[in-house]
Amino acid sequence: MKLRLQALVNEPDCDHNQSKTEKQKKEACKKPTPGATAGGCAFDGAQIVLLPVADAAHLIHGPITCCGHSYNNRGTRSTVGDMHTYGFTTDISEMDIIMGSESKLKESIIYIAEKYKPKAVFVYSTCVTSMIGEDIERVCEEASSEVKLPVIPVDSPGFSGSKNLGNKFAGEALIKHVVGTAEPEDIGKFPINLIGEYNIAGELWQVEPIFKAVGIDILSKMTGNAAYEELCFADKAKASVVICSRALIYIARQLKETHGIPYIEGSFYGMKQIKETLLKIASIFESKELEKNIESYTSKMEKETYKQLKPYLPALKNKKVLVYTGGVKSWSVLYQLEELGMEVIKSSTRKSTEEDIERILEHFDGDESALMPKGDGKTILNLLKEHNASLLLAGGRNMYTAMKGQVPFLDVNQERLFAYAGYEGMVELAKHITYTLESPVFEVAHSKAPWEVA
Ligand code: SF4
Repeated sequence: MKLRLQALVNEPDCDHNQSKTEKQKKEACKKPTPGATAGGCAFDGAQIVLLPVADAAHLIHGPITCCGHSYNNRGTRSTVGDMHTYGFTTDISEMDIIMGSESKLKESIIYIAEKYKPKAVFVYSTCVTSMIGEDIERVCEEASSEVKLPVIPVDSPGFSGSKNLGNKFAGEALIKHVVGTAEPEDIGKFPINLIGEYNIAGELWQVEPIFKAVGIDILSKMTGNAAYEELCFADKAKASVVICSRALIYIARQLKETHGIPYIEGSFYGMKQIKETLLKIASIFESKELEKNIESYTSKMEKETYKQLKPYLPALKNKKVLVYTGGVKSWSVLYQLEELGMEVIKSSTRKSTEEDIERILEHFDGDESALMPKGDGKTILNLLKEHNASLLLAGGRNMYTAMKGQVPFLDVNQERLFAYAGYEGMVELAKHITYTLESPVFEVAHSKAPWEVA
C-alpha cells in the first residue's frame, strides 16, 4: 500500500517537479495532513471521477454512511444513462465486519447486473472494508465471469488521504482495468481524449461543438457524459487534453508513458484560453489544416460572442471581484473575468496545483499578495470591504458569507446550475453576473431600515 501511494502522489510531469532532486520528487504533491478528509475523503475523490460514467453502476462496498457522503452532490449531467443518480451500497453491518462480507458483495454485484443491466459495475472499497481485508479484486473477477460484465474494483479507502488522492485512485482503476479493453469502429482524423471535464451543469455540451466545428474528434471523455465503452479505447487517441490538471494528470501521464499519447493542459473558460488550447492541440498533430480551421473559427466566434456580450459589458466594466474557488477555476476564471472587463482583486489557491498558482501569478504579474491560500468568512468579508469589491465568486458554501456581508455572489463550483464554458458559457457568465450585480435586493439591503430613517 505504501509503495502504491508513493507512486500515485509522485507526479514527475508537473513543471515544478523538474527542478527537484530525486528524493524531493518522491515527496511531490501535498501529503495528507490531519483533517484533510474534511473536504472529501479519497473514496469521495474516486467516486467524483467515475460517477459521471452514467451507463455503469457504482457500488459502494461499505457502511451506508459512505454512500450518503458523496451521493448526488455534484451537478454532473449525462445523456448516456442515469445510473449516476442511484446510490448502490452493500450497507455492511457489525455482523458483516465480524464474519466478512465478500459473499454479500458478490451477491450485490449479481443483483445489480441482473436487475439494472448496466454496461459495467464499478466497486469502491471504503475505510471499513479495507480495514477488515476484503479482497474486492478477487470478488470482482469472480462476479464478472458470472454476470459476463466488466466489474471494476476501485481500491479507494477513505482514510488513505484526500479527495485528490482519490481522483488518482480512480485514474489507476481506469488504467489498470478499463483502458485498452475495446476497439473503436472509427477514430476520426484528429482523435483526442478529453480528460478532467465532468460535464458539470452541462459544460461539456458547450465545449463539444467547438471541437466539432474545427474538426477534432473526442474519442474518449474522462468522464463527463462518458459511456463506459469509450473509456475502453482511450489508448487509441492521438493526443490527450487535460482540463482539470490536479485531478487527472495521472491518467494523461500513464497514457503518455504506456501508449505514447502526448498531452497538453488547457482551459475552455475565456475566449483567449479556448484559442490557445485549440492551437496547442493543432501543434501536437502538426497540422496546418487544423490550425487554419481554428484561426478562422475562433475569430468568427469571438466577433459573435462580443456582439452577444455587448448588453452586459457596461454593467461589468471595472467592477472588482474576489475569486474564492479551487483547482483549475482559480486561474481560468480570472482570464474570463478579465475579458469581461472586470478586475480580480485576489484569487484563492486552496486547492490549486503549483501550475495553477503559477498561472494565477502570471495573471497578476508576479504579485504574490494577490494569492489567497486560506480564508474564513471574516477574512473574505474584510477583503471585500477593504477593496470595495462588487462581487464574490465562490463555491456554494460561501453564499452565506456573501449574504451576511450583503455582497452580490455567484456560485461557480460543482453544485451550480449554470454552465460557463466555451463561447456560450462566456455569455451565460456575463448575463448571470450582471443579473446578480443589478439585483434590486442590494439596494434594499443597503438602505436604512424605516425606524433608522424616522
Ligand atoms: S470511505 Fe472512510 S472517510 Fe470516506 S466516507 Fe467512508 S468511512 Fe468516511
